[in-house]
Formats: sequence, C-alpha cells, structure tokens
Amino acid sequence: MLKPQKLEKVLIANRGEIALRILRACKEMGIKTVAVYSTADKELMHLGLADETVCIGPAPANLSYLHIPAIIAAAEVTGATAIHPGYGFLAENADFAEQVEKSGFAFIGPKADTIRLMGDKVSAKHAMIAAGVPTVPGSDGPLPEDPETALRIGREVGYPVIIKAAGGGGGRGMRVVHREEDLIEAAKQTREEAGAWFSNPMVYLEKYLTNPRHVEVQVISDGQGNAIHLGDRDCSLQRRHQKVLEEAPAPGIDETARAEVLARCVQACVDINYRGAGTFEFLYENGRFYFIEMNTRVQVEHPVSEMVTGIDILKEMLSIAAGNKLSFTQADVNIHGHSLECRINAEDPATFMPSPGMVKHFHAPGGNGVRVDSHLYSGYKVPSNYDSLIGKLITWGSTRDEAMARMRNALDEIVVDGIKTNIPLHRDLVNDEGFCKGGVNIHYLEHKLANQ
Ligand code: ADP
Repeated sequence: MLKPQKLEKVLIANRGEIALRILRACKEMGIKTVAVYSTADKELMHLGLADETVCIGPAPANLSYLHIPAIIAAAEVTGATAIHPGYGFLAENADFAEQVEKSGFAFIGPKADTIRLMGDKVSAKHAMIAAGVPTVPGSDGPLPEDPETALRIGREVGYPVIIKAAGGGGGRGMRVVHREEDLIEAAKQTREEAGAWFSNPMVYLEKYLTNPRHVEVQVISDGQGNAIHLGDRDCSLQRRHQKVLEEAPAPGIDETARAEVLARCVQACVDINYRGAGTFEFLYENGRFYFIEMNTRVQVEHPVSEMVTGIDILKEMLSIAAGNKLSFTQADVNIHGHSLECRINAEDPATFMPSPGMVKHFHAPGGNGVRVDSHLYSGYKVPSNYDSLIGKLITWGSTRDEAMARMRNALDEIVVDGIKTNIPLHRDLVNDEGFCKGGVNIHYLEHKLANQ
C-alpha cells in the first residue's frame, strides 16, 4: 500500500474560510491542491485558486461534504496524496480517517484510533485521568442504570450535577440535575436522546460547575514523541454553546495553575502518541482547570494562537502529516501580546436567524495587527445549506487593550452589504464593560442578550 512520505497534492475536504486557509498554507509550502465542492458551492473563492477542482455532489452535506466514497474517489481521480478534513463535516469521523489511510492517502490529523478514543467522552476522560490531566469530578466511567448505584454516585459528587452523553457533541445530549429526586428520570431521558442522536445510549455524570469560564489549550504533536503547547485561549463568550468571540491568552488566569495544565496537556499528547494539532477544552473555575473534552482537529479559533506565537498551525499540520518531526521545541514558543477573534456569521444580530443571500458589497478592514480569514467577495452568494460562518476578523496587539482598540477600528471599517450579519453584536461586545475588563464566564453573553 502506498504510504506517502511527502505531501505532493492535498485534497481539501471542506469549504468556506477553512478551505481557503488550508489552500493558502499548501501554496506557501509548494504543495498542489485539489478543491472539492458541492453544486451549491460553485462560487467558492478557493476554487479559483486551487490546482484542480472536483464537484463531489449536490448541496445537502450528506451527499457531498459528508459523502466518504465521493471524497475518496475525488482523491483517486486527481492523484492526491493526502486529505485535509478542516473542521466540522468529517474532521472527527474515525471511520473516515481509517478509510482515507486504508485507501493509501495520508490523513492530515490524528490516527483513527486516537479520534475514536477522544470521540467517546468517557474513554477520553479516562485517558486524561491516566495522564494526570485534571477532570471534572464525577462517575468513574458510565453512569450505571441501577438506580441505587446512580443515586449513590450523585450523592458523592454533590448537586447540582450534569448528565452527559458519552458520544455527545455540539452542545447536545446534556441535562443539568439540581435535586436527587430528579436524577433517575433525567438519566433515562438523556440515555434515550443519546441513543437516538449519537447511536450510543451511554451517559456519564459529572459535577455541574455553576460559573466556569471556557479555557482551552492548543497543542501540536508529531506522533514521534514530540509535543508542544501554544498556550491557551478563552472562548467563554458563547451563545447556545457556540463560540462567538475568542482570545489568546486567556486573561487573568492563575499562573501556577496555567503552567501545570499546559505541561499536563503536553504530557498527555506524548502518552497517547497524539499526531497533529489538537485542543484540550477545560472549564476554569476558582483558579482550577477541569478537562471536558478534546477536539482532534484544527479549530475555528486557531488564528488567535497563531497571532500570539507566530507559529503557523496549518503548515505544521501539513509538515507532520508528511512524516516530519515538529519543526520547533517548546523553548521556541513565546507568547507575545494578545489576540482577539470575532466570528462573523450571516445571521440576524438580534434573532440569530440565518441570513443567506447575495453579498452586494464586501470591504475588508486593514491596518497594523488586523487579519481577515474569509472567503467573502463582492457578488458572492452565501448558500443556505451550510454553517453561517462567513469569516473571522482577527486582531493582534502588544497588549489586550491594543488588540481591543484595533478590533473596534476593524469592526468600524468592515462592510458586508446585502445580507444580515452579527457585526453589530461584535461592535457591542468590544465596548461591553464586563468583557473589556476580561475574564467573563460562559453565561455572560446569554445573560447580556436576555437583559437587552
Ligand atoms: P460538546 O461536545 O457538546 O460541545 P462539552 O462537553 O464540550 O460538549 O460541553 C459543552 C458545554 O456544556 C461546555 O462548554 C459548558 O458550557 C457546558 N458544560 C459541560 N460540562 C459541564 C459541567 N460539568 N459543568 C458546567 N457546564 C458544563
């Protein structure tokens, strides 16, 4: 079986801004690109920049971007040697990673077994406990169906608790329980939902933290014994568990706790022989970190870590997939300044209803420390079939205040005419007193929106 040591031609199994981001990294490294697209996506910007393009199916994602045989066939006919899944779609699908490698292509991400291990939150938590990463106290493994044992575990952990689906994702399959008398019924309901949504009824229980922040750690590991971290990010500004605005580094974190958790994450990568870029997600409360899950792919918010470290995460992912060792050590990683990212969505800023359609005019902001990762151009029609993310506005400053001032300017300059966007929400957020102070918790944005 062909085992490519070199990435000659990468097929980009994604769309939108991340497809463009991957393409740019490939071009910089002299790697040829194959862009795949659905019939709804003929106007995507990166198609015009790729070496080859292949239509892989109609608009519904399950017939195109999620259709494994179509993607593998596209790689075969174009002679691609590797596949980058981006984020979303098939990025954390272990079967896809396995089929890609079995078909003789390099998968630009972890091995299928690692994706499988981390995709099951119970096994992920076990692996993290074994590696010494702090987790949320809870049931050691799945919550048993036997009511007496379940009640005992609930009592030991202490209320409120949260019941979570082992196979859950996207903020679904979770239930908070405040009183012991509600535990058994809540577990039953969550099991039923988990079975229907994730084809896996297994649930587990953990302590429900009432006012945590979402702080995550970016890692890169070469699967050859070398791992590093690129510091942390704060993604606490969320609506319905969807991140809205992110920053690096997380402001006001206890330095001892931070140093400890960063070191533990790096060690965990070595322990599980992790390959590629990944993110350890934590809740942070009262100066302590609690692991909740690992994302085994590049994340939407990766640019803020690139801005404060100067390291190109996408290029490093490609290099590792080509069989190279990490091109730098932890000592080479210096966190410098501060970076913010606003996710620009095609949606109504008040109702959050998607707002697809023709972008009559797009003007990108600029200036010192401003980066725009977006596939938008004037005349582009945002299709209604996919996620509403149309771009990311990123700023860097030598201090958080400078990054914030640059973001205010950038948000004043950016023009997206023809469709509704959440730019007004971001303009409000970068002037919000609590957010400007730094360190708000994961409920802050929802409370703010509810009180408007
Ligand atoms: P998903 O994979 O669905 O995103 P996560 O495990 O990452 O699920 O949890 C999503 C969100 O749910 C978290 O960002 C947090 O807001 C909330 N959450 C999860 N576990 C807890 C917990 N133990 N205490 C409080 N909130 C939690």
